Amino acid sequence: MTNNKELQGTIVKALAGYYYVQPADVQAERVQCRARGVFKKRGVSPLVGDRVHYSMTDNGEGTVEEILPRESELIRPPVANIELAVLVFSVTEPELSFQLLDKFLVHIEHAGLDTVICLSKSDLTEAEGKLGESAREALQRVKNVYEPLGYEVFLTSASRSEGFDQLRDKLNGSLSVFAGQSGVGKSSMLNALVPGLSLETNAISDRLGRGKHTTRHVELIDIGHNGFVADTPGFSQLDFQELGIEDLGYCFREMRELSPSCKFRGCTHVHEPGCAVLEGLAEGTVDAGRHAHYITFMEEMKEKKRRY
Ligand code: GDP
Ligand code: ZN
Repeated sequence: MTNNKELQGTIVKALAGYYYVQPADVQAERVQCRARGVFKKRGVSPLVGDRVHYSMTDNGEGTVEEILPRESELIRPPVANIELAVLVFSVTEPELSFQLLDKFLVHIEHAGLDTVICLSKSDLTEAEGKLGESAREALQRVKNVYEPLGYEVFLTSASRSEGFDQLRDKLNGSLSVFAGQSGVGKSSMLNALVPGLSLETNAISDRLGRGKHTTRHVELIDIGHNGFVADTPGFSQLDFQELGIEDLGYCFREMRELSPSCKFRGCTHVHEPGCAVLEGLAEGTVDAGRHAHYITFMEEMKEKKRRY
C-alpha cells in the first residue's frame, strides 16, 4: 500500500458512501475515496467542499485520511468552505422578490461570506410592455439601493451570452454557491459559464417537483482556473447557523453603519427616539423597503420564538 499523506485535494462530490476527490493538481483525474472509519467515530463526516489529505490504496481507490480545518460550513446545501455566494435573481419572470434578496443578504452577512448579486435575463429589460417595464424597474432599484451599499452587481443574459466574462473573472479561484428561486436561470447560467456542461433547463418540471433537480447529491462544478461552483439542486434557500433577533440589525449594512450614532445602545431601530436609522429613513437616505423587510424579519423571528 502506498500511504502518502501528502496527497491533497477537494471533495467535489459525495454519493453512496463514496467521496470524489479532485486532486490539488487540477490536471489529475478525480479519485474515488472511502472515508476512514475514525471520522464516523468522532461524529464528523467529510463534506463536499472539504479540503482533505488522502492516500491511495492498491486497487486504485483512495482513502480520506484527514479533513483540513473548515473555513465555513453551510447546512443546506451541505457544503464546506464556501467563499462566495452568488445570489441569482432574474430582472423579471419571475418578478424580482426584494424581500427574498434581503433575506439572503441577511444570512450572508451573518455568515461573513463574500457575495455578489447576479441579475439574470438582462435581455428582458428590452422587452415591450409590462414585462420590460418591470425588468427595468427591478434593475434600477438594484442599482439605486444595493450598489451604494457596496454589493457588486452583475448583469447576465444566457439567451444572448452576455455578461459571463465578468462573472467568470469573479468566480475564478473561489468556491462559490449559486442561490436563487427556481426559474431564475441558474442552470442556463452555469451552462453558459462552463463549456461542455449541459444541465437541464426547464422551470416547469422543477415546479412540479420532477424532471431536473431530482438528484439529491451536491456536486461541485469545476469552472476552471481553480474555481468551483456548488450546483444546488432543489435548494432555493441558504441555511446557516441560527440567527438571533439581536443579530438582525447587524446584518443590514446601513443599520450596522448607523447604529453607533443611535442615542441608545441596543437600539432596535423601530421606535426609539434619537435613532439614526429612523432619521435616515425620514430623510430618505435609508431605503424604506429594506427597513420594512427588517421589521418583517424581526416579526417572523419573534413569532418563531413564541411557537417553540
Ligand atoms: P433555474 O431553475 O434557476 O435553473 O432556471 P433555468 O436555467 O432552468 O431557466 C428557467 C427558464 O428561464 C427557462 O425557460 C429558460 O429558458 C429561461 N431563461 C434562462 N436564461 C434566460 C435568459 O437569459 N433570458 C431569458 N429571456 N430567459 C432565460
Ligand atoms: Zn437605532
